Amino acid sequence: MSGRALVVGAGVNGASIARELAGRGWSVTLAEQHSPGTVRSASGGDTRLLRAAHGNEDWYTRLACRARALWLELQEETGTRIWEPVGLAWFARSATGFEHQSVASLARNGVPHEWLAPEAARDLFPSLATDDLHGVLWEPEAGVLHARRATQLLVEDCGRRGVRVEPNRVTPTEAPGRDAVVWACGAWLPHLFPGVAEVRIERRDVLFLGGDASWRGTPGWVEYDGGFYGHGDVAGLGVKVAPDGPSDEVDPETLDRRVLPERERAARAYAARRFPALADAPLVGARVCQYDLSPDTHFLVGRHPERPSWWLVGGGSGHGFKHGPALAEYVADCVEEKRDPEPFHALGPRAGNAGLRTGA
Ligand SMILES: Cc1cc2nc3c(=O)[nH]c(=O)nc-3n(C[C@H](O)[C@H](O)[C@H](O)COP(=O)(O)OP(=O)(O)OC[C@H]3O[C@@H](n4cnc5c(N)ncnc54)[C@H](O)[C@@H]3O)c2cc1C
Repeated sequence: MSGRALVVGAGVNGASIARELAGRGWSVTLAEQHSPGTVRSASGGDTRLLRAAHGNEDWYTRLACRARALWLELQEETGTRIWEPVGLAWFARSATGFEHQSVASLARNGVPHEWLAPEAARDLFPSLATDDLHGVLWEPEAGVLHARRATQLLVEDCGRRGVRVEPNRVTPTEAPGRDAVVWACGAWLPHLFPGVAEVRIERRDVLFLGGDASWRGTPGWVEYDGGFYGHGDVAGLGVKVAPDGPSDEVDPETLDRRVLPERERAARAYAARRFPALADAPLVGARVCQYDLSPDTHFLVGRHPERPSWWLVGGGSGHGFKHGPALAEYVADCVEEKRDPEPFHALGPRAGNAGLRTGA
């Protein structure tokens, strides 16, 4: 099956889906209301972590592994650096949490990993306090993606595959007729489809601290039970420290993107505690963006209830970037009716909490 497709939104999902459909012979238009990779979109962040550990959720572990291979292919084909192979450390506070569930899932799926005693993990960072840690799950094949650059690279590659990339804000009342329309609109999705896409848009503040040269290329890290994550100094951005706790509901168009003093204080206090050498590091950068949180952190992939040729894709829930190119293969299979979407991606009400982002 192929035909004419419109993909709305040139974030990582829309760009990956447009590129995938074009590669399968579809005639594709990709519409973007701002610039592809705009810093207003979640995909327009400087960096995003790629990790395979997803607690018990093997489906996402496998998707992350496939996505990693596709990102490396894109980097190889284009000669543009989008991947930092720095590995990732999960700071575990208990013997029974997300990290231990992940160990079992990584083992089932053949993903390289190691369980480190806290003191053994000290070598991974210039300074690391481990007195309150039970252990550290080390993922050597995890790393950091240059997110905005990678998103723009996907859009450029769309152009090479014959996709028409158009500056255009498409609305459901004005959408042109196509064999398939994929709405990959990130934080804008619930405004376009109220009551259909149940996604909460939450503010996120990201800080970069000026560590010295010893922080260059140090690993990504996540403290799931503490609600913080980040990575070492990548591409001169500074050491990323990001709070991942509950936050305010926002509108992505009007969000004031200046960092909040209380978030800066929280990030500094965390950094001083976990990485003592950063206690007096200056703030060298900050970004404010938004999560599109589904109630249970599973993505949304489903047909519009009244327009069967329309597909809604979103609910990245703070962990969607890494999966982009692999999710696109899955979405394209759904659009081409080669498979059905997974029940856990269905539109409509959700119960439970899979806890797939970097904070409990
Ligand atoms: C601070 C932060 C940290 C994160 N960390 C990670 C991480 O470490 N690892 C990870 O894997 N994920 C992470 N994520 C999540 C990840 O960034 C998102 O899940 C992913 O980028 C979402 O991509 P998207 O394409 O669905 O949406 P977006 O990137 O938001 O793109 C949607 C696009 O659609 C456009 N659009 C919307 N409506 C219209 C319209 N009507 N017409 C035309 N265009 C339209 C928008 O302008 C935008 O460009 C993080 C997110 C944030 C905010």
